[in-house]
Amino acid sequence: MKIITTARDFRDLKLSTPIGFVPTMGALHAAHLSLIGRAVSENAVSVVSIFVNPTQFNDQRDFDVYPRPLEADLRKCEDAKVDFAFVPIADDLYFDDEVLLATPEMLGSILEGACRPGHFDGVLRVVLKLINIVSPTKMYLGQKDAQQLAIISKMVNDLFVNVEIVPCELIRESDGLAMSSRNALLSTDERVTALSLSKAVRYVEELCKHGERDVAVLQAAMIDAMMNVTKIEYAEIRRRDFSVTNVLDPGNSIALVAAFVGKTRLIDNMLL
Ligand code: AMP
Repeated sequence: MKIITTARDFRDLKLSTPIGFVPTMGALHAAHLSLIGRAVSENAVSVVSIFVNPTQFNDQRDFDVYPRPLEADLRKCEDAKVDFAFVPIADDLYFDDEVLLATPEMLGSILEGACRPGHFDGVLRVVLKLINIVSPTKMYLGQKDAQQLAIISKMVNDLFVNVEIVPCELIRESDGLAMSSRNALLSTDERVTALSLSKAVRYVEELCKHGERDVAVLQAAMIDAMMNVTKIEYAEIRRRDFSVTNVLDPGNSIALVAAFVGKTRLIDNMLL
């Protein structure tokens, strides 16, 4: 595996074969590795970027404590047979007085967008730069970040960006907790409390299977299931295009939750 640290060095590789790309912020876990495994097996060349992107953090503490085990991450990429790890530094990716992208008003102002002002602007900003540097044929994104997946897909569509988005299913720990780099920040007690998020979305899935269709009832059930967390940020059911609905439409709905457990903010979702 080759480690590349600048955009110029990446461009100089002049890769012409089909490239599979997985953008990450590092602290790689089994869910990342499942995306990476697909990128490796489905493309002639695979690239993983590791970059804790400062522009998408609306909370300085969250940025400061974000885990950065770079050496271990590079070993995991090497073991997974990744061809190139792209590990840029912020000064190399960002410029003064930049041309900026704006998040779409509807999709960008709800849920994560409402709780984390500026977050998606930073995500789009870095992802478009990474796409332009790496020139991937396919880019692998996780359903764990459902709204991010929708907004990046919309950017690719709206700006005619030449890449195929490959959505990858949400991967959970054996007890149901959605895998996340932030799970490493949880204490033993918080790790137990964090299960409330997956329990909430699974409970709603169960209620849905038993015929409950009233979104207000289902949202109230999710909030009840998360009563022990430090702070619920949202617990909502929407159509899969993120529009609001009062009646759940099975096969076209998604339950989404976000909550603080201690100082750590976690998210989860379930397609319904
Ligand atoms: P991150 O390093 O958190 O920015 O994540 C990098 C990519 O991995 C994103 O496309 C995430 O959606 C995806 N990802 C992270 N956790 C999971 C998970 N538990 N299941 C599926 N995809 C995930």
